[in-house]
Amino acid sequence: MEDCGHKAVPGGADMQLEVVFTAEQIGERIEELAQEVAKAGLDNLLVAAILKGSFIFAADLIRALHGAGLAPEVDFISLASYRKSTTSSGAVEILRDLESEVRGRNVLIIDDILESGRTLAFAKDLISARGASKIMTCVLLDKPVPRAADIEADLVAFRCPDVFVVGYGMDLGHKFRELPFVGHLVEQ
Ligand code: 5GP
Ligand code: MG
Repeated sequence: MEDCGHKAVPGGADMQLEVVFTAEQIGERIEELAQEVAKAGLDNLLVAAILKGSFIFAADLIRALHGAGLAPEVDFISLASYRKSTTSSGAVEILRDLESEVRGRNVLIIDDILESGRTLAFAKDLISARGASKIMTCVLLDKPVPRAADIEADLVAFRCPDVFVVGYGMDLGHKFRELPFVGHLVEQ
């Protein structure tokens, strides 16, 4: 069913998932992104993945980084700006902090979606304030919406239509993270 661009939603009789980016498209793009990161020549690299939404993207990207000849350390920070809702509350809070010392390190921040920019700007400001040397930001999806924070990602896998997406690590009410593709829920 993915071939024709739609998948039935398990348990959701009146909902369908429209495939926005296929697993194959994502895989190809990740290989290109890994080459871009490798070209940046960031030694002593620390990957800081923003949980939860980026966990699958980060897992795939760090394996591609290995393929591109890099050996990054990997850490996670759990940030929340969405609270079981499809609209942003505005505030960003740290639910779980990085364990690594970032002072003097080159840091690659990975997130799932850049929308208002608040989450990525918060993470970048935090890591910068802790004394990171160079910070590179990479997001899976960039939504074409006005930013609340003045930030653009250094690397973007895909420009995404301004719709609520799930899958490939991203959720709606804790569901759909397991999907190997990025999809958009539509009512039938
Ligand atoms: P921002 O802080 O840039 O407004 O929002 C970024 C965060 O909001 C992302 O890391 C993601 O967790 C969440 N988000 C934004 N748009 C979507 C969406 O379409 N689907 C899902 N599942 N999360 C989203
Ligand atoms: Mg997020």
